[in-house]
Amino acid sequence: MKSDKSILQFLCFMFVSCFFNLTSLSQDNSKVITGTITNGQKKVILYDDKSWEYLSVERRKNLLKTFMDTSSIFTEDWSNIIFPYQDKYPPDSVLITYLDSLDNFVIPIVNRINSKFGYRKNGFHKGLDIHLTKGDKVKVAFNGKVRYARFNSGGYGNLVIVRHFNGLETYYAHLSQINVSENQNVQSGEIIGLGGNTGAEWTGTHLHFEVRYHDFAFDPQKMFSIEDSVLLNNEILLRKSDFHATIAASRKYHVIKSGQTLSHLAVIYHTKTSSILKINANLNGNSIIKIGQKIRVK
Ligand SMILES: [Zn+2]
Repeated sequence: MKSDKSILQFLCFMFVSCFFNLTSLSQDNSKVITGTITNGQKKVILYDDKSWEYLSVERRKNLLKTFMDTSSIFTEDWSNIIFPYQDKYPPDSVLITYLDSLDNFVIPIVNRINSKFGYRKNGFHKGLDIHLTKGDKVKVAFNGKVRYARFNSGGYGNLVIVRHFNGLETYYAHLSQINVSENQNVQSGEIIGLGGNTGAEWTGTHLHFEVRYHDFAFDPQKMFSIEDSVLLNNEILLRKSDFHATIAASRKYHVIKSGQTLSHLAVIYHTKTSSILKINANLNGNSIIKIGQKIRVK
């Protein structure tokens, strides 16, 4: 810990970036963190008594862990089903600030793009296909927490989904190996798995990479330039038209009437009780269904 007026004055000229309220996270209860600033590659924490310290790797990890353990982003709509949010439609508009003061951005894998986001012959492609060689290391784009890390038989193959502080989720599909586990905190640049073509064995090896906000996919190339390995902006204003809304359109909900059970719904909607349970994160086989309760059935 250092206290030096001239250095502090110098630092005050520099860009102040503080998107988090760090107040409650001071290790020393007598001091309050008032902000963080960036000095080249280093981050500096400022305290209310005008002292400051470089943010060490250890301290950064502790701060991140605290955020991830307490932030509602990592508890609400949190489950290991692929699309856990219950939103029926994408938002009219949402402003995403990509990075907080402790975060960095890393391109998951730098290579040529095989296929872009958008319509193609066999339907809508909800991600970006980046070429790779089997076994290439795939890195996580931002700090976050792993929500899903398992094999998916629906076409993703070995899939890792990470949720980030900015409210986005990133998807890493067709991996030959998964290196992280669910609920694990990860830092941008950490290797989450190795590239492959699981779930898409008829194609060449590639990373299928998606970016989603509340389950709604948008074009990753609106976010970053793979050639330059940078984010295109600090933030992005996403509008309804930016999202692929097939998921929303195909979702169906049912409001429970007197005497109805999940088995009734399964019959009405030509599905299975187990399928209904799978898409309703708040339900399990022992849940009591109430009249008026809204249940997702498709
Ligand atoms: Zn793809």
